[in-house]
Formats: sequence, structure tokens, C-alpha cells
Amino acid sequence: MPEVAAAPALAAALQALQRVFGYSEFKGPQQVIIEHVVAGGDALVLMPTGGGKSLCYQIPSLLRAGVGIVVSPLIALMQDQVAALKEAGVRAAFLNSSLSAGEAASVEAALREGRLDLLYVAPERLLTERCLAMLSRIPIALFAIDEAHCVSQWGHDFRPEYIGLSVLAERFPDAPRIALTATADAATRQEIVKRLALDDARCFVTSFDRPNIRYRVVEKDDPRRQLLAFIKEGQSGNSGIVYCATRAKVDQTAGFLHEQGIGALAYHAGLDGQTRSEVQARFQREDGVVVVATIAFGMGIDKPDVRFVAHLDLPRSVESYYQETGRAGRDGLPAEAWMAYGLADVVQQRRFIDASDAEPAYKRVAGVKLDAMLAFCETPECRRVCLLDYFGERSVPCGNCDNCLLPPETVDGTVVAQKFLSAVYRCEKASGFPFGAQHLVDVLRGAATEKIRRFGHDALPVFGAGGDISVKEWRSVVRQLTIAGLVQVDTERYNSVMLTQASRAVLKGESPVSLRRWREASPTAGRRRGASGGGSGAGSGGRDAALAELDPSAAEVFQRLRAWRAQQAQTAGVPAYVIFHDATLREIARNQPKDRGELSAVAGVGARKLESYGDVLLRTVAGA
Ligand code: ADP
Ligand code: ZN
Repeated sequence: MPEVAAAPALAAALQALQRVFGYSEFKGPQQVIIEHVVAGGDALVLMPTGGGKSLCYQIPSLLRAGVGIVVSPLIALMQDQVAALKEAGVRAAFLNSSLSAGEAASVEAALREGRLDLLYVAPERLLTERCLAMLSRIPIALFAIDEAHCVSQWGHDFRPEYIGLSVLAERFPDAPRIALTATADAATRQEIVKRLALDDARCFVTSFDRPNIRYRVVEKDDPRRQLLAFIKEGQSGNSGIVYCATRAKVDQTAGFLHEQGIGALAYHAGLDGQTRSEVQARFQREDGVVVVATIAFGMGIDKPDVRFVAHLDLPRSVESYYQETGRAGRDGLPAEAWMAYGLADVVQQRRFIDASDAEPAYKRVAGVKLDAMLAFCETPECRRVCLLDYFGERSVPCGNCDNCLLPPETVDGTVVAQKFLSAVYRCEKASGFPFGAQHLVDVLRGAATEKIRRFGHDALPVFGAGGDISVKEWRSVVRQLTIAGLVQVDTERYNSVMLTQASRAVLKGESPVSLRRWREASPTAGRRRGASGGGSGAGSGGRDAALAELDPSAAEVFQRLRAWRAQQAQTAGVPAYVIFHDATLREIARNQPKDRGELSAVAGVGARKLESYGDVLLRTVAGA
């Protein structure tokens, strides 16, 4: 690239970043991407949630002639995104089915007359002949295809309308196209390239790490109580999402939290459309709402200050888990991903796969994905290393997950494993059919159950052979043996446990077994210890993360700023973060600027916002 051409583009991009968005420097690869797109190149951008994808097309749209067209499947969000751009002084609008005919007509007039920098469009609308014809008559700065993984038929968010977007390459050969997604795997990437005709696009991949998210997995005991303790002890008053596998469980859990005084709302596909949009709108706009949901909730979420994501059931793959937990902490402030999991999850997920009438090849893939998810749950190593490794990224222990903060003990579990395997073998041999885990554990613990007497299992040599190990510990052992393939649970036959090929070597003493020691599951285990660990405040996860690290006088200013913002947002009918992000208010509170010059140095305060809110902010800081 000739330097003479590049330098002015870079200077203009930096100026837009500072003046319009109020940031002093580019984040990660933003600069290279922006230069590439401004110069007319196509791009595929793979960045985690919160990585800063929006500026990669917003700034080029401002710098190139014509309007930038943003394709987004999230109709519910367009309004907020456009509101945020307008706050920053950008001429933005959206076209989707929520507009009246009159409103749409005035957006179209602005478009024709060159009065727009950015236009957000729903894909089905964009692909109408009428819309394509309209766009072909005006200069187009670029096409940005957000959530580009929606084009993937194998992915969880497939949108048939996205397939049609390949026409953009044919109809608008001169407009650069930039596809963006937070879904990382290689297969999805290839599908995006193929379906959106991005063969010549430059691919930009950043680290998928989300350092501000603290990962924790606890062993399921009394999951609702565990969840309650988790929220009460570190997240009360914060916004969060709780995922459950079924609608019934969503309703029960939301009801339970509600009884316990937590403002929780249920969300699942069984609710009518209006209720669902209300829940979504309240979550997006109000502070401190907890939504309990099936995976149906998520795609429409663009809230930067979600402080936690909890799973009461096991996600079916690491991709799903990463995408769901990724909704926490987009603003970069400390956030938590918490999951309770147990043997029933393993069995249930296996059953889903076995019972589905999918093709064998698909079932195999699903099984492999589930195994990777289970490995993540059981790993005694750093969870982040395990996650990133799954996405092909090498890393070192993070210091901000439960296993780093409170390393689990691994012990030689050969004898314990042998005891369990013998119980499986002996009970089946004595009675002629296999038994479930609970009965086997009862036998090992020498319990006096009716079932044991009936089958005469109290006469077996394994009866009472594991009485020194608690029921909870045994459950953990059974789960680990299942995941390691040392036993198999037959979901078609009452979840009976059976030996496998690999069991023999263990029984014969030829193959040692190492087990992760079961630990009394405290909801806060691995939470506090990192608090003094430095870093960018990531250690303090929990109660009012936004207040963390502020001295008392700054905290007071911050509270005043927040109150002002809440009022302002309400008057304007927009979410609070559209006015200013928490991070910006926090910096203002910390620096306590005395004049406009000092205020404009704060990240997130651009020229337009300085003009709109400068005086009131300075007054609020001064306490006047
Ligand atoms: P994504 O779409 O990748 O999830 P966003 O574009 O919403 O991410 O950006 C995430 C957050 O990072 C937003 O709060 C945004 O204001 C902030 N951000 C983006 N670029 C910068 C930058 N260069 N400097 C500081 N903050 C930035
Ligand atoms: Zn770690």
C-alpha cells in the first residue's frame, strides 16, 4: 500500500475515533481493519463479543463516500444502536418492520438525498427488489454483515434470509463488504466465506479471550439454592442471565428467585411474542433485571453491563457455552460465568443425542462436542486455557477462574474406581441385569435399603466396601468414570451402569485412574481470593463491580452521575448505556474533571456528547 494514500486515511480514522466516539486509540486490530476497508477491501472479522467490531464498519462508513449499509438480524436492537450513534452525532437510521409506512418513507427520502452516514437494515427487507433497486441508485460506502455466522446452516443461529446476501457481491461489485462474527470455529468461517462470496476478503482474527469473565463450575447439589447463594453473595442488584434446559425449569426457577426477592423474569419460546419482547426490553433497559431463559434468549442481547451468566443445565457444546457466557461483561468490567453441573446433565445430554432421529454422522459430531464440554467441566487445569485451546488458541493459566484461584486436588483414584467397577460387575452378575448409579452407591456405602435386601446385594463382597466415601463424593467419582469412558450409562434401560472395554484394564490393575477430589461446593469458592490480584479490576468480580476500585469520594460522584444518567435515559426513552457507559462514568468519577478540556479527555466523551452533556456533567461532578 502506498504510504501517501494510507497516511491521510489513518489520520482521518483517528480523528473520527477521537472526535465522534471519544476514544483516544484503536483497540486490537481495529486500525488495520478500518484502513483495509476504507481502501475498498473486503474483510472477514472474527472477534469476541465486546472486542469492538462496530467501529470497524462505522468509521469506514463515515470516511468513505456514500452510506454504510449494516445488515443485522437483531431488529429489536437496531433502535438502540441507532440511538447510540445519534447521541454521538452520527447521521444514522434503520429500516425494519417496526416502522410505520410514513416513518419508512422519511428514512428512504433521507437515504436518497444523501443525508445518512449509516443505515441498519433487516436482511429480508434489504433483499427485496425494491430496496436493492433503491440502493443501486445511490453511492454505497460499504456493506457490513453483522452476526455473519447466521449464514451457517449447521450453526445454532441459522437465518435462511442470510443465504440470499450473496447477491450483494453481484449487484454491488464496487462496494466493500465486511462480515463480522464472534463465532470462531473453522467450519463456520469457511461457510461464511463461501456463502457470502468473500473469497478475496482479508481475514482478521483476534484472541477470543474474555479476560474480565471469571469462569466457575460447581458440582450440582441443590442447584436452585446454589444459584440463589451465588447471586446473593456477589451479584445482588446486578443484571444477569440464568440458562435452563427446559421451559418448565425456567418457570420454576424464575418463580423461586422471585419468591426470594430477586427481580427475575422468565423467557422461553412458549411465551407469546409480546411477553417475550417485553421481557427483552426490560432486561435491556432497566438496571438489575435477571432473566431466566432457555437458549431462545440471547441473540437479541446487546447489553454491555450484564454482570453474570449462570447455567443450571449443561450446554451441549463449548461453542454454545462460550457464546452464552460471552454475553456477560461486554463493557470490560468484571463479570462471572457460573455453572452448576452433575451426573444427571451428562446422562440427559447423552440421551438427547441418542434419542434424536438425526443422521449417524450428525450424532457423532454432537457426541464429540458434548465430550469437549464435559472435559471443560471436569478439568483440574485452568478453565480459560481449556476454552481457548478448544478454539485453537494457546494460552497460560489465567488466575481468574475457579481452578486457578483454588486449584483442585487430583488424587490416585485407582482403588476407588476399582471398588465402583466391581460393584457394577458383582451386582449385574448376581441379578442378571445391570443397576443404576444410586443403587450401586448404596451397595458400596452399605446402606440398608429395601432394594438391596430384595436383591440380596448385602451378601456381596462389595457391600459396604466404600462406606468411608460420602454420597456426594461417589457421585463425583461416577461422573468422572463416565466421562472417562470407564463405565457407560444405558439411557434406554433405566440409566443402568455397565462396564466398558476400558474397565477391564482398571479392574486388573493395569491402568491407574486419577480423580479430581470432590470439594464441598461453596457458591463463593474461588471468588474472593483473587480480589487483591491486581489486573484491570477483574479480581473483584461481584457486588457492584462498577464501584470497585473507586475511593469514597469518587464513588459518591459516580452514584450522582448514575442517578443523572438514569433520569436522562428515561426522558430520552433510551437505555442508560446509550447516554454513557459505566466505564465512562467511572472514569469521570475518578478524574473529577474541572473543565470541558479535562472532560473531553475521558474515553467515551466525543464532541457531540461534550456539547450535549458537558455542562451538566461538570456540575454533577462538582456536586452543584
Ligand atoms: P462487539 O460488537 O465486538 O461485541 P462493540 O463494538 O459493541 O463490540 O464494542 C464493545 C465495547 O468496546 C463498547 O463499549 C465500545 O464502546 C468499546 N470500544 C470499542 N472500540 C473502542 C476503542 N477503540 N477504545 C475504547 N473503547 C472501545
Ligand atoms: Zn484460570
